[in-house]
Amino acid sequence: MDPQLRESIRLAARVLPFRVNDYVLTRLIEWDRAPDDPMFQLVFPQSDMLRDNERHRLARLIAANASESVIRDAVAGIRAGLNPHPSGQQEFNVPSLDGRRLPGLQHKYRETVLYFPGQGQTCHSYCTYCFRWAQFIGDQDLRFATPGPDDLVAYLRRHPEVSDVLVTGGDPLVMSADRLRQHVEPLLGVPSVRTIRIGTKAVAYWPQRFVTDRDADTTLRLFEEVTSTGRQLAVMAHFSHPREIGTDLARTAVARIRSTGASLYCQAPLIAHVNDDAAVWAELWRAESAMGAVPYYLFVERDTGPHGYFRVPLSRAVDLFHDAYRRLPGLARTVRGPVMSATPGKVVVDGVQDEPTGRYFQLRLLQARDPALVGRPFRARYSPSAYWLTDLVLDPATPGDLVRALRVGGADVPGAERGVMTAHAQGEQR
Ligand code: SF4
Repeated sequence: MDPQLRESIRLAARVLPFRVNDYVLTRLIEWDRAPDDPMFQLVFPQSDMLRDNERHRLARLIAANASESVIRDAVAGIRAGLNPHPSGQQEFNVPSLDGRRLPGLQHKYRETVLYFPGQGQTCHSYCTYCFRWAQFIGDQDLRFATPGPDDLVAYLRRHPEVSDVLVTGGDPLVMSADRLRQHVEPLLGVPSVRTIRIGTKAVAYWPQRFVTDRDADTTLRLFEEVTSTGRQLAVMAHFSHPREIGTDLARTAVARIRSTGASLYCQAPLIAHVNDDAAVWAELWRAESAMGAVPYYLFVERDTGPHGYFRVPLSRAVDLFHDAYRRLPGLARTVRGPVMSATPGKVVVDGVQDEPTGRYFQLRLLQARDPALVGRPFRARYSPSAYWLTDLVLDPATPGDLVRALRVGGADVPGAERGVMTAHAQGEQR
């Protein structure tokens, strides 16, 4: 690697988590295209991911041989400014049991609980755009994790409305089959749990996990045990680029997972420098569908980490999504997007509408904390420079219940992410 590039990566990796394995290095990255290669951008932190002033300050400290503690403080300051827990995850989503907060769980939507097993809070490689990057920087205050499933099971028994548990991370499939069993098996004793989802990027970053690893077969037997109870086992696979499913190993991994009766649902964010191209998405969704996996979500990159480097405006995201969607056969049109997983819920941008009164984004709540709001459409003023829900101004005609829901985390909740503003509220601010 060019020495200057190597040093700039070293600098960015002081702030952003960096980990890469042999498989990604030798099978996924096209080195003659680096540093512009999308797989290279996906795993190697770039110095432009830091703001200019922060990058220069850090570089100066390192050049001046500042002590490790001074550098550590500077790094901590930069990280704190990167919105380590977006979308109110810590404020709003952590449930309680008998007055005790359960920090390794999140319960945002009625049917689904997220479970963060402590041993699964790392990944085979790290994505530079990861919205859970704060999990990987060794700061216990920022980390979601729980050592075992006891609290989860107790919580589920009190909440029979929860039908789905998403085991997530990090990547739960960094755990051995035996370890994974310790977390998954107890869920089979809770009759109201009908679907176990496992969020993973292992098919992309380490497909050996399902094919040649020592306990690959044992892992698949665990999957079979889950499906044989009549439950759904859904592998929520994260594929950012078609190259990740182009290898023989990845295709074999998918076939072996499917042979257990598990289903695969595929999702990823739209990311500048990695996959901001309609042809890339159309190719990815076609390939997923051809493998028997379900294209599920195209997400908008969350407002965290090096968001300024990766973000794509909503106006472009919606055009790109529809451009890619139109190229798909009907069976692959299961995908939804572009979707913002924001504080109030999952908001999809359905399109852009021109009216005599101006231009609007057509939006819809795909998921909401209040189930009564799921599916409700609304609209906001069009803006070519809007990147996230908080950049939008709602149509003044938006019904009051939606306005209240969309302003969760707004000015009336100190210290949290702002919800969208009404035109009225924006006028007040001015
Ligand atoms: S695999 Fe998922 S959790 Fe791990 S770094 Fe990538 S986006 Fe983050």
